[in-house]
Amino acid sequence: MGWRGRLVSRIRTPLGIALLFAAGSMAWIAISGHVALAFANSLASIAKAELLKGGLYVFVTASLLYGALRSWQRAQHRHEAAVEASEARLNRVLTGSNDGWWELDLERDSLYCSPRWWSMLGYAPHKEPVPPAFMFGLLAAGEAQTLQTLLDAARSGQEPGSRLLHLRHHDHHFVPVLTRFAATRDADGKVRLISGTSTDMTLNEATQRRLYQAAAVFDTTREGIVVTDRDARIIMVNRAFTEISGYSEDEVLGQKPSILNSGRHDETFYAGMWQSVLATGYWRGEIWNRRRNGEIYPEFLSISAVRDEAGEIINYVGVFADVSEMKDSERKLDYLAHHDALTRLPNRLLLLSHLEQAIRGAQRDRCSMAVLMLDLDRFKDINDSYGHIAGDELLTQVADCLRERLRDTDTIARMGGDEFFIVLERLAHGEDAGQVAREVIEWLDQQWVLSNGARVRVSSSIGISVYPDHGETTTELLQHADAAMYLAKQEGGGCFRFFSEHLTRAARERIELENRLHQGIARRELCAFFQPQVDVATGRLVGAEALVRWIDPDYGIVPPDRFIPAAERSGLINDIGRLMLEEACRIGKRWLDAGHPPLLLAVNVAPRQFLHSDVHAMVAEVLAETGYPPEYLELELTESALMARGDEAVAALHGLRALGVRLAIDDFGTGYSSLAYLKHFPLDVLKIDRSFIRDIPAQVDDMAIAAAIISMGHTLGFKVLAEGVETEEQRAFLERHGCDIYQGYLKSKPVPPEEFERLF
Ligand code: C2E
Ligand code: CA
Ligand code: CA
Repeated sequence: MGWRGRLVSRIRTPLGIALLFAAGSMAWIAISGHVALAFANSLASIAKAELLKGGLYVFVTASLLYGALRSWQRAQHRHEAAVEASEARLNRVLTGSNDGWWELDLERDSLYCSPRWWSMLGYAPHKEPVPPAFMFGLLAAGEAQTLQTLLDAARSGQEPGSRLLHLRHHDHHFVPVLTRFAATRDADGKVRLISGTSTDMTLNEATQRRLYQAAAVFDTTREGIVVTDRDARIIMVNRAFTEISGYSEDEVLGQKPSILNSGRHDETFYAGMWQSVLATGYWRGEIWNRRRNGEIYPEFLSISAVRDEAGEIINYVGVFADVSEMKDSERKLDYLAHHDALTRLPNRLLLLSHLEQAIRGAQRDRCSMAVLMLDLDRFKDINDSYGHIAGDELLTQVADCLRERLRDTDTIARMGGDEFFIVLERLAHGEDAGQVAREVIEWLDQQWVLSNGARVRVSSSIGISVYPDHGETTTELLQHADAAMYLAKQEGGGCFRFFSEHLTRAARERIELENRLHQGIARRELCAFFQPQVDVATGRLVGAEALVRWIDPDYGIVPPDRFIPAAERSGLINDIGRLMLEEACRIGKRWLDAGHPPLLLAVNVAPRQFLHSDVHAMVAEVLAETGYPPEYLELELTESALMARGDEAVAALHGLRALGVRLAIDDFGTGYSSLAYLKHFPLDVLKIDRSFIRDIPAQVDDMAIAAAIISMGHTLGFKVLAEGVETEEQRAFLERHGCDIYQGYLKSKPVPPEEFERLF
């Protein structure tokens, strides 16, 4: 729009029209006056009539005037059409750009504003100019002066440029309006008009703010952000991207994000990812990427496609979080939840899930599978003799051995203690599990070297249950393998047994036994038998060992070997221990009171009692209760229990000794301890296990060992007692080697106290 158009439009006022009309008439009269008058004069001279002459004159003048008016009007219409067209065009342009415009006529001191300008501020368009003060009145505080300064500048011929002003909307909020100024001069170079365009910046300002915020977020967020173009070429990355990936912006611009590929995902993975982005506009998931330094890390990634108004993808934005730390701890937690901390083998939880899978697999493939339950024989001895650390070490070695030798497809799990489970999948025949079990027993039957230098041997027992013959559920299979293992143990260990129906009965009996034992203790069905201890050289009765007997009303006398293990397992052994101590002291006191010569009464203290209960308090209490003299009480401890308590055992023994009781070490030679180690303990008596006596004189080895134990025991200052002496020959052997005391069938079996009294 040229300034002329605007000028013309300014003149389209009634006053302007009147002025133009006058000017036009004058021009016409001036130009055609002579012709018209000459024409009129010639007519008049022809007619020679004054009146006609006058009338003609008026007519011609009127015609002339009319013609002039019509011609001006046509010109005016053309002008107006041009102006309108140009204004419409201007409006179209401004509407397209959503801008309004205004014009300040300095001479008239009026302001014309375009419809869009008005609507921008929520007003109905004013067709007429308004006083400039109107615009000033809409300005935000302080901005009137700004506008005035700008207008003054424009007026004085300077280029005022553009400025953001805030105009009050009809509903009172302020609209940010970017205002551009231009001055229009007339022919004399004088500024007559100042015009301007106004751009509503409301959206832009919000966008700006958003962009500003986005930029701040973009740069400060801990998530890596990658923006690519439609061809997936990187056009922008943020700081976190660089920190996580190790790539600087320069290194990745123009590259494809695939430079981060870890190689952990196959093509189908990426294809699926992009398919989702294209179909739904986004993809979210975990992905492994590779850092610049080659390290592979997991990230949580979301990719969004950005589309333009036409729906065409213009960008892809990827936002990702490095979850390697989270993953690590998650993995650790998961690992801990599913693995045994000691051996790192799967634990019960993981075993169950593997077993379930294996069962499903066997169902599907119509083949067999087996569960092996493995238990180390005499592991408790190792544990007790060398302490838990050595025990743990052995378990770790066993676990490693199994892991190394079994197939990768087999699951090995540890249930705690020395119990392992092995799941053998895909067996052609259930019996094949027996072959594996035999091999496992062979592998484990080796000398294990522990870090303390000790060399230990363990045998193992394995129970096998086969799917589907012995059970179809995890619970059944595990229980039945357990029952079978128990059978293998009962048969002496070092062997394997398959599950069969009668094993279930045995397992049931075991539980029953515990219940019955519980009741038996409560009903005082347990009592003490006494076995004499005799001076080897003189044959004099010097003491007696109290041995527990359970007189079951239904089953008669139950030997301790049948219920002591159950009592140890269930913890009932503590009750039995106390009961036996009470019995021994009570009866011993009665014998003393009856005038019998004092005897050393020996009472067994189970390892579990020594390790997990306050033996000292119990002994003190019972002695106080019964009034039995402590010097005639001997406590039999096993060497394994002493070893298990380590240094603490020494203090515990001193504590017991301080009560005035004597201490004996029971079953010497069956554990793994050494005499040299025993010298640290304040002990009085060494009881040689009857296994060393049994085969005297047949076994030369045993004789040598027995002889050695006797002499070394003496060197350490202990009295030496031999257990299980059944023959005179054995007694004579012991006498020859200076053994102090013996106990055995040679003198007497354990007998009830009444019967024992006859021995005095
Ligand atoms: P132990 O402490 O070694 O007890 C000696 C065992 O050897 C007794 O078996 C006894 O009857 C047996 N015995 C004694 N002399 C001979 C012999 O000449 N030949 C043979 N073959 N055996 C002989 P018992 O009474 O069956 O006890 C077995 C084990 O039960 C005991 O071994 C002990 O470990 C445990 N036990 C017995 N009574 C108690 C008790 O009151 N408390 C605890 N904690 N354990 C007990
Ligand atoms: Ca004993
Ligand atoms: Ca013994």
